[in-house]
Amino acid sequence: MEIPEKLISELKKVSGLKIRINEPLASHTTMKVGGPADLFLQPLTVRAMITVIEKMSNYHCPYILLGGGSNVIAADRGVRGAVISTRKLQQVRIQGNRTTAEAGILLSDFCQQLAEAGLSGLEFASGIPGTLGGSIYMNAGAYGGEIKDCLRSAEVLTAEGRSLTLTAEELELEYRSSLLQEQKLIALSATFKLQERPSSEIRAEIQKLKEKRWASQPMEQPSAGSTFKRPPGHYAGSLIEKSGLKGYRVGGAMVSPKHAGFIVNTGEATARDIVELMMEIKEKVYQKFGVRLKPEPRLIGEFDKLPY
Ligand SMILES: Cc1cc2nc3c(=O)[nH]c(=O)nc-3n(C[C@H](O)[C@H](O)[C@H](O)COP(=O)(O)OP(=O)(O)OC[C@H]3O[C@@H](n4cnc5c(N)ncnc54)[C@H](O)[C@@H]3O)c2cc1C
Repeated sequence: MEIPEKLISELKKVSGLKIRINEPLASHTTMKVGGPADLFLQPLTVRAMITVIEKMSNYHCPYILLGGGSNVIAADRGVRGAVISTRKLQQVRIQGNRTTAEAGILLSDFCQQLAEAGLSGLEFASGIPGTLGGSIYMNAGAYGGEIKDCLRSAEVLTAEGRSLTLTAEELELEYRSSLLQEQKLIALSATFKLQERPSSEIRAEIQKLKEKRWASQPMEQPSAGSTFKRPPGHYAGSLIEKSGLKGYRVGGAMVSPKHAGFIVNTGEATARDIVELMMEIKEKVYQKFGVRLKPEPRLIGEFDKLPY
């Protein structure tokens, strides 16, 4: 759909909103691939975000939310409609052990602030390279913890621009899934239940997990994290490695020789290379083990083929 000129001129009048036209998504995703978004909107305040969603809804204009772009593969032809970035929504309010943060803060920055305040519970998430909002949407987890464990509630926005507060239970957080995915809800902010702990201990734990991650994952190359969800009773990376695919390439996309669960961009990858590689991996693992792998990253925009 062509974006109506009238919508663009209304958006230009919204205070606290940055607007870019034909913005390349490669510079907003950790995989470093992706063509242009017709409209790239960056609200600077929650108020501006709500106004943007109301306007999108009034004009029936399609849009996709983007946080840190660490769990998406954006199509080479880009995204029609709008991509709405949460990255400028970063306020954190710490009141005793009740902490509320806006959706666009990076988990690494949030965890640093919690460490300063001596609040424990989110250490496991400190090395996940996404935003708070994306981590609720995906119920992100690592090293035995997941967002579900420490989330108290989240303020969300419906597709019509109505805001609601949902408890952790109402958010239906399960392995890499949440109600947000089912109902196209937008996370605006979230409140956590945390415990007091000396800052030095929190910092030491964050450092220990960081070293563990850098030793085992290809942090030095662009990727979108784990390529596939963990199939019941297996580890995707181990099945891929046992299929002889470590280092296997399609164009510039490669199964990481460091951790077969990751596809890395060796520099010149296209989204198409990545999708082709995902499809080959799926096929080979199915042939060898009879296990059907399911992609973890979200594929956004116009693809010819999808690896589902
Ligand atoms: C090197 C590397 C390591 C990783 N390690 C882990 C790990 O250990 N554990 C883990 O769980 N994940 C891991 N990931 C994946 C990723 O970091 C997480 O899924 C993260 O939570 C995604 O957050 P994001 O802000 O980057 O989301 P994005 O990639 O921007 O978006 C992901 C999805 O969430 C939606 N979304 C984003 N923000 C919002 C919002 N505010 N409201 C509604 N929807 C929203 C988007 O529309 C999209 O569908 C890793 C990724 C990389 C690159």
